[in-house]
Amino acid sequence: TLSFDVDAVRADFPLLETEIDGHPLVYLDSGATSQKPRAVLDAERDFLERANSAVHRGAHTLAAEATELFEDARVTVAEFVGAEPEQLVWTSGATAGLNLIAGALGYAALGRGGADARALAPREGDEIVVTEAEHHANLIPWQELAGRTGARLRHIPVHDDGTLDMRAAADLIGERTKIVAFPHVSNVLGIVNPVAKLVTLARGVGALTVLDACQSAPHLALDLPASGVDLAVFSGHKVYGPYGLGALWGREEILAALPPFTTGGSMITTVTLDEAEYLPPPQRFEAGTQPVSQAVALAAAVRWLGAHDLAAAHAHEAALERRLREGLRSIDGIRLLGDTDAAERVALQAFAVDGVHAHDVGQFLDSRGVAVRVGHHCAQPLHRRFGLTASVRASAAIHTTEAEVDTFLDAVSGVRGFFGVTTAGVGA
Ligand code: PMP
Repeated sequence: TLSFDVDAVRADFPLLETEIDGHPLVYLDSGATSQKPRAVLDAERDFLERANSAVHRGAHTLAAEATELFEDARVTVAEFVGAEPEQLVWTSGATAGLNLIAGALGYAALGRGGADARALAPREGDEIVVTEAEHHANLIPWQELAGRTGARLRHIPVHDDGTLDMRAAADLIGERTKIVAFPHVSNVLGIVNPVAKLVTLARGVGALTVLDACQSAPHLALDLPASGVDLAVFSGHKVYGPYGLGALWGREEILAALPPFTTGGSMITTVTLDEAEYLPPPQRFEAGTQPVSQAVALAAAVRWLGAHDLAAAHAHEAALERRLREGLRSIDGIRLLGDTDAAERVALQAFAVDGVHAHDVGQFLDSRGVAVRVGHHCAQPLHRRFGLTASVRASAAIHTTEAEVDTFLDAVSGVRGFFGVTTAGVGA
C-alpha cells in the first residue's frame, strides 16, 4: 500500500542533510531545480557501472541491455504523463523541447516536411499567442518563429491577481491564430492555468496548442493526452531527476507531420550524399548520442515518486501552499505575486519586499540557511507588468515541511528590520 510520510521522504535526499553556516538547510528553490532522491543517484550509477553502452547500435550484449533500459525508461516516463512511448521525445530539457517545436515549425514554413507540416506552420499575417506570464523559454522561440515567418506574436494579459485575462484570451484567439503556447503553471505566479478553456478556444479556430509543463510536472498528476493540448514539454531536473534531460510529448499525427529540427546520426533510415530519409517519431527528433544514463535516472525518479501516495503528497503540498501564502500575507511590507484564491496554485510564491532589493533579501535568508531564488526568474515581461525588475521566490517540494516554511517566514519577518526599513512603501 502507498503511503506518504514527509520525514521518510526527506530521508531519501542526501543533500537535505546539508548545513549552511551552522543552520540546517531549508531548500525552497525546487522551482529552479529539484534535489535528487538516492534512488535516482543509484540508478544512474548502477547503469554506468553495469550496463553503460551506446544504444540502438552494436550487436553486443551490453548494447542490447542499454537499449532495453533506455526504451523502458521512455515507457516509464511516458506513463508518468499518461502517454504512449511513441509520443515521447527525449530532449535536453524544456528549453530544447520548445526550440525543437518552434524550430521545426520554422522549417515547415520553408516547405520542409511537405504539405502536412506546412499546414501547421504560421505564415505572414498569422498569429502566435502566448501569455504575459511566460518563462523566456516559452517566449523567445516564438519571437524567433514570428520573425522568420512574418507571423505576429500576441499575448494574453494577466490580471493584477496573476490569473489570466480569459476575456482577452477569447478576443485574441481568432481566425488568424495558428499557435497558442502557455504555461500549465507559471514559474513566478504559481497559478494553475485553465488548460481546458484555452484548449477549447484554440481548437475552435484550429490552432496548435503547446503546453509548458515545467512547473506542473513536479506537483500535479499529468494526463497530457486527456488535457487536449497538442504538444507539451517538461524538464527532468525539476521532477527529482537528472540534469540534461527533458521530454517533449506530442500527439502522434502532429509529431508525424513535423520535420526534424536537429539532424544527424540515429534519426535516419537511408542516407545518400544528396539526401536522407528519416525515421518515424520519436527517433526522427533524437539525432545524435542520447542521454542514456539520464533517461534511466529520470525513470527512477518517476518510479520513486509513484511509490508514494501522491494524493496525500498533493494534500501536503496544498497545505504548504496555504501556509506560505498566508504567512507572507501577514508580514508588513510584502507584496505577493499571484496571490489569488480564484485558482488552484502550487506551493511556489514570489514576492517583493518594500524597500529591500530581492538580492539583499536572498542573502539575508541565506544567512539563516534558507535557499530561495531571486531575480526575474527568466520572466522579465511579467515582472515589468508588475512594476518590478526582480522578486524573491520560495518554492516547495514533496520533501518540504511546515516547520521549514515557518523558519522561512520567521526569517522574512526580520528582513525589513535588518535593513532598517520601517515605513511601508519606501523604495518599492
Ligand atoms: N518553463 C518554465 C515555466 C520553467 O520554470 C523553466 C525552468 N526555469 C523552463 C521553462 C525552462 O526549463 P529548462 O531550463 O530546464 O530548459
